[in-house]
Amino acid sequence: MNLVLFGPPGAGKGTQSRFLTETRGLPQLSTGDMLRAAIEAGTPLGLSCKALMAKGELVPDETVIGIIAERYDRPDCKNGAVFDGFPRTVPQAEALDRMLAERGKKIDLVLELKVDDAALLARVESRIKAGGVLRSDDTPETLKHRLEVYYKNTAPLIGFYKAQGKLVSLDGMAPIEKVTAQIEAALKGAEA
Ligand code: ADP
Repeated sequence: MNLVLFGPPGAGKGTQSRFLTETRGLPQLSTGDMLRAAIEAGTPLGLSCKALMAKGELVPDETVIGIIAERYDRPDCKNGAVFDGFPRTVPQAEALDRMLAERGKKIDLVLELKVDDAALLARVESRIKAGGVLRSDDTPETLKHRLEVYYKNTAPLIGFYKAQGKLVSLDGMAPIEKVTAQIEAALKGAEA
């Protein structure tokens, strides 16, 4: 099964992806994590993305499409994957559909976590207060910009996947376990 977890920055996609990895054995393919690993490793790709990511801008479509295709061809994705933070633009979604079609696969379901902006800002502020390890793009100012980028470039995917009949919208404001339960119910519905 190939799933897309979709939603604004800080909606909880990573948390729910990890749950899907544990319960269904589907690897989490997070372009954000892959890009941060490339920055950490100091690769040319990492260096080319570092400034854009720190500002909350998107990196070029070709960059993420390339790293996703390479990752998807690893053997652990043979039964599918959870795409987290990808696709983020309509061209990325079209490229993903093509990549899967070439491999005889498809996206089965797109799970949208709906969370309002005020709650997302409150989450980033509480992370700052808690003083955990913060990402360079995890500040209220950059989050506001990441949200603008989300509404402009990424939100159009809601219509794209609705038209394909694959979109399931979930209440991402609910407690973590309740969101997980909604995902389980959506997957059971899709498998039935
Ligand atoms: P979040 O969902 O919290 O915004 P991510 O870890 O998914 O965080 O992404 C962090 C940053 O990495 C984005 O703001 C963007 O700069 C870059 N990025 C991640 N995935 C993509 C993508 N699919 N397309 C373009 N840029 C991406």
